[in-house]
Amino acid sequence: TTSAETLEFQSEARQLLQLMIHSIYSNKDTFLRELVSNASDALDKLRLEAFRDKELQADTDDLHIEIDTDPENRTLTVRDNGIGMSRDDVVALIGTIAKSGTAEFLKKLKETKDSAASQDLIGQFGIGFYASFMVADKVTLLTRHAGSDEGVRWESEGEGTYTIETVPDLPQGTSVVLHLKPEDTEDQLFDYTSATKIKQIVKKYSDFITWPIRMTEGEEIATVNSMKALWARSSSDVTEDEYNEFYKHVAHDWNDPLETIRLQAEGTFEYQALLFLPGHAPLDLFMRERKRGVQLYVKRVFIMDDCEALMPEYLRFVKGVVDAQDLSLNVSREILQQDRQIQLIRRRLVKKVLSTVKTLMADENPYKYETFWKEFGRAVKEGLLDDHENRTAILDICSFASTNDPEKPTSLREYVERMKDGQEHIYYLTGESRQSIENSPHLEAFQAKGYEVLVLTDPIDEMWVDAVSGYEEKQFQSVAKGEVELDDTTDEQKEEFSGLLTWLTTTLSEQVKEVRLSSRLTTSPACIVGDTNDVTPTLEKMYRAMGQ
Ligand code: ADP
Ligand code: MG
Repeated sequence: TTSAETLEFQSEARQLLQLMIHSIYSNKDTFLRELVSNASDALDKLRLEAFRDKELQADTDDLHIEIDTDPENRTLTVRDNGIGMSRDDVVALIGTIAKSGTAEFLKKLKETKDSAASQDLIGQFGIGFYASFMVADKVTLLTRHAGSDEGVRWESEGEGTYTIETVPDLPQGTSVVLHLKPEDTEDQLFDYTSATKIKQIVKKYSDFITWPIRMTEGEEIATVNSMKALWARSSSDVTEDEYNEFYKHVAHDWNDPLETIRLQAEGTFEYQALLFLPGHAPLDLFMRERKRGVQLYVKRVFIMDDCEALMPEYLRFVKGVVDAQDLSLNVSREILQQDRQIQLIRRRLVKKVLSTVKTLMADENPYKYETFWKEFGRAVKEGLLDDHENRTAILDICSFASTNDPEKPTSLREYVERMKDGQEHIYYLTGESRQSIENSPHLEAFQAKGYEVLVLTDPIDEMWVDAVSGYEEKQFQSVAKGEVELDDTTDEQKEEFSGLLTWLTTTLSEQVKEVRLSSRLTTSPACIVGDTNDVTPTLEKMYRAMGQ
């Protein structure tokens, strides 16, 4: 044994561990799902690595997961012969939390006093390996990276520090040994030394794992999961629970998805897709290093995570798996971007996702659509700029706050149905907040005359309203720009005020282009409007903020 060290967890990691040790999470069984999920990922990675690197000195003959219970010593061990970790990997992956959005998550958690709400937050974040500390007061991890001689032993009680040392003669892969908490001894419900209990948990949470999960009882070794890839089974055979558990594995989420989407294509190129709309936005949805969630498989073999060629940016929150039959196992990200098959698959996936949301919108129960839009609407609207082909389909699933009913957002279709006779445009006003828009003098005449105005407050709204020409042949028209059709001042009025207008125009010549008579105001005496082609005030502010 060489160079044993005691190291400190990174502070975010320490805080998460504290949460797990004093677990307020009601469903403790989930720790096993996390360990099995990691073991399965490690086997996927090894198979792929061995395929790509023929020199790799790795044993890939019998890749599997093993679970051992030891009631006498009160330990539970989850072992895999997958890719393993180097010493540096262990420090980086287990000692720190690299997930983007962690700091924000912890901040929110601190602000949350109510325990149901904090459980919900933890569920959204997903704790992974640290979930072990819900049931164990000490965890030992033994691991050897495939192709390396050097093994690593890591151990921690979760209280701020861990020890790490290099050890010889470890088998390839990773063993996680949980020293179970004594307080769970009495409670049958939490008896994780019971093989029966463990089998039940595996069946419930990890049945779809495509690697064998083995348990030994007496002389018998049994595989306890069915190992069937869920996306390859006929959908009538798969229960909602199974889909939900699979989602948690691919999405690293602890909550159920909002909606499951299946797609199967046969014929010249065959593929299966199993996609999910999550129930909440990830913390990094608008961060630079965000990921896209779809995994690519080729003939059941895992090829890559975050396959950006399969989903456009604006649908980056969609999770799941695409399994294509006719791709080479060798494909790289660069090749995929050019691949015609992948492009066709992507087109179909996008259309399917959009049409699924449209179906949710038509559903009697508005909860799913409303949740979807609240969580992902801002991202979806980016598609109005990027995805010309599906612009109409995207507009169809958008909803906006409106002056029609302050409580209820409207779809564009509903807006158009309510348009007054002779109204030619879809009116909107952009601004920083609903309140600033409602206080805007621009809105007065429109409201006074009974025209509905969309209240657009997301920064992205400024951009797409300029890019999108219209919806159902009605153009979008800002009520803050140009001469709107409400300006029905008469010649006599113009005559009457011409002196004042000339005086104002001269006096304000440095500040404004023109001073006009308007009937767009009812209670305010004057307001400033932009030219039809000018940028709006909010956009102007954004440009200024960006230093342009
Ligand atoms: P996540 O799986 O969401 O990345 P975890 O906390 O579950 O988060 O695991 C953190 C990281 O530790 C994994 O991404 C993986 O790189 C590494 N890891 C965990 N378990 C194993 C294992 N059994 N074999 C190899 N690497 C592992
Ligand atoms: Mg994990």
